[in-house]
Amino acid sequence: MELGGLHHMTAVTTEASENVAFYTGILGLRLVKKTVNQDDVSAYHLFYGDELGRPGTEITFFDWPQLRIAPNHAGAGEVSTTELRVSGRGAVEWWAGRLEEHGVAHSGIGERGEQAYIEFTDPEGQRLRLADEGEAPRVEAGVPWEGSPVPQEYGIRGLGAVDLTVRELGPTAWVLAEVLGFRLVGEYEEGGERVALFEVGPGGPGSEVRVVERPDAPHAHLGRGGVHHIAFRTADEEEQRSWRERIRGAGLGVTPQIDRFYFRSIYFREPGGVLFEIATDGPGFATDEDARHLGERLSLPPFLEPRREEIESRLTPISPVGSNVGR
Ligand code: ZN
Repeated sequence: MELGGLHHMTAVTTEASENVAFYTGILGLRLVKKTVNQDDVSAYHLFYGDELGRPGTEITFFDWPQLRIAPNHAGAGEVSTTELRVSGRGAVEWWAGRLEEHGVAHSGIGERGEQAYIEFTDPEGQRLRLADEGEAPRVEAGVPWEGSPVPQEYGIRGLGAVDLTVRELGPTAWVLAEVLGFRLVGEYEEGGERVALFEVGPGGPGSEVRVVERPDAPHAHLGRGGVHHIAFRTADEEEQRSWRERIRGAGLGVTPQIDRFYFRSIYFREPGGVLFEIATDGPGFATDEDARHLGERLSLPPFLEPRREEIESRLTPISPVGSNVGR
């Protein structure tokens, strides 16, 4: 039993229309599902990804306008950067130009080993990095949507890695390695901080977790522009049940298996404070919508469908403003 890599990351936005404009219009992802938070149906839950929102390509947002005045406080116990994979150094260079064209400040092109990368944030401060996935990536990449304003050769091919910031490396490393089966593939110093690189399943981009140790960091406080959780891939419900037993056996509190309709989920908090999820690869986003029309209307899981009128009336329509950005 092995995890298949990163499944999705879920973050917080407070401006749904602006969020759609940035992730589709500038980053060129496809909005594959527009639904509501199952635990709070007054909030949108937006899913972006490759042409189908394949597992490993998804970035999702809870829209929580009430947090407009509460920016994320960075620190320990959070996903501190989400890395997105592109193919080749040329793509990273192309992105530097695109970000400039759209007035998005960035770090300039950096190098980690042979890999070129560039760091920037979305309009709410969400910390992102685009990185070259290298020549022979082992986790199969997604397929950028052909309707994207970004040429397919430069398109974002999925999640590459996540950086976790914790105060103490040991306990988080223990969960990754001993409970979840990650492999430690590198330890180094970066900017005076100790960093440990882990990978799982096939390894490489799409499977990497970089743990940054900052003993003096304040505790992170989730807000606008912060990450809510990171999810890892499991094949199916059977395997997920086994993961759940294993996590419980390690003495960690874990939720029951929850039906998120597009996949099934279990959640637990690792000792460093980051919320982890293990999500099934299927059934996916084309279960309730035609693949050609993903994300165009509000999707509701069957148990909420009878309340559609009431739910829709309480949501602020996502304005088309900016939907042609970059075309
Ligand atoms: Zn999730």
